[in-house]
Amino acid sequence: MIDKRNFYINGKWVKPFKSNDLEVINPSNEDPFAIISNGTKEDLDFAVQSAKKAFVIWKESSKDDRIQLLEKLLTIYKKRFNEMAEAISMEMGCPIDWSLSVQTTSGQAHLEDFILRLREFKFEETFGANSNIVHEPIGVCGLITPWNWPINQIALKVVPALATGCTMILKPSEIAPISAMLFAEMIDEAGFPAGVFNLVNGDGAGVGNHMSAHPDIDMISFTGSTRAGRLISKNAAETIKRVCLELGGKGGNIVFADSYPNAVRDGIKNVMSNSGQSCDAPTRMLVEKSIYDRAVKEAIDEANKIKVDSALKKGDHIGPVVSKIQYDKIINLIQSGIDEGATLAAGGPELPHGLNKGYFIKPTIFIDVKNEMRIAKEEIFGPVLSIIPFENEDQAVDIVNATEYGLGNYLQTEDKEKAHRVSKKLRSGCVYINGNTPDAGTPFGGYKQSGNGREGGVWGLHEYLEVKTIAGWK
Ligand code: NAD
Repeated sequence: MIDKRNFYINGKWVKPFKSNDLEVINPSNEDPFAIISNGTKEDLDFAVQSAKKAFVIWKESSKDDRIQLLEKLLTIYKKRFNEMAEAISMEMGCPIDWSLSVQTTSGQAHLEDFILRLREFKFEETFGANSNIVHEPIGVCGLITPWNWPINQIALKVVPALATGCTMILKPSEIAPISAMLFAEMIDEAGFPAGVFNLVNGDGAGVGNHMSAHPDIDMISFTGSTRAGRLISKNAAETIKRVCLELGGKGGNIVFADSYPNAVRDGIKNVMSNSGQSCDAPTRMLVEKSIYDRAVKEAIDEANKIKVDSALKKGDHIGPVVSKIQYDKIINLIQSGIDEGATLAAGGPELPHGLNKGYFIKPTIFIDVKNEMRIAKEEIFGPVLSIIPFENEDQAVDIVNATEYGLGNYLQTEDKEKAHRVSKKLRSGCVYINGNTPDAGTPFGGYKQSGNGREGGVWGLHEYLEVKTIAGWK
């Protein structure tokens, strides 16, 4: 059993004020493999006071000093890359090969990109006849992250906060905290000054709740469910702190009749990857009527080819979903699809063959889905796809936009003009055309109830900065 009961506060690993053990479960076999502590208000207060003290010095640090420390952190991250990949596989169940090639790589890519953006960033510039515009760190930041892309989300918050001269307390997901503890060890080894980065484990109702209300925290950056985002916003309102939210999604993927040959199969692979646990997963596939029958056949064939197995086995398969709670929620939604009259075309609520332990779910496809059904409206966060037919471009756009979310949408067509036209009509922070992924340093975030901030690149740096106008500068 891995013992990770201590917190990282003021540059040291310290015991919690009260002992309060929390088991970390391996979703591939349902066995606990690590113990952390569920922190309290006292632990958080200690971390906040350390971060507040450290801010006085760290906000004056030079850009060059911060770049040097971030480069050291990057070297250490590369050295401990395999350990990070194993931790992610164990705690949230993504297969080890995918953890190595995608999850762990994403943390490294963010570190590399933020170092580049920081090099180019101007913290001060003159404006007009007599003004100076200064970008200053906002202060003490509370960073709250989810379990589904653990190090990706941590890097998207911790690295720009460090880069801009903020100090911080990270509260990672209590379900997948081991990758975060490893990242804290790396920050410690890199030699950031004491109190700049702190980590307190805990759950949403405890440490998370105290964070959003804390009078000495200047900003909360949160990634997680829309439900928790709402509670955090209300709680933070009392102290008027900045709240940046990266929330849920219900992505649409419009497959036009003139899409490239593998568009349907790629859509299936995309939605099922990470066992469907990605905020911008294309979970509603809209197919133009003239190719509907062919698309459905291809989709079923592709879903049935996907293997489901333990996260620690090498190879090209999907792993379990993260927890018993998520498993029950997903099975319940699959059942709702059946009950509401959608046609189950692949997968279903039974366990995959030969897997009797672990939170495994078959890649599942519903066809002839109506946008009013729960499976088309709610974020399922599992390997489940709804296929919806459409008649024409306007109808497809209306169906995709008829959701409270607006994170990532997708479209497939070989007609460039149509691709440009439709991408601008979709109400979401990201649109992916023909399976393309965005360039490094592009912003990521949501419209509507998918959130209000933008992470990544120069936009990610701005989230942690205040802007000051000084008149009479010249
Ligand atoms: P969650 O909201 O249950 O938990 C996320 C984090 O918030 C955890 O650390 C949790 O302890 C904490 N938390 C929960 N309630 C809280 C509260 N009241 N106050 C403060 N903190 C609280 O989400 P999850 O199940 O861990 O993650 C899945 C969700 O995250 C999905 O909805 C997914 O779409 C979303 N997500 C969004 C993005 C994005 O960039 N938009 C990226 C990844 C995941």
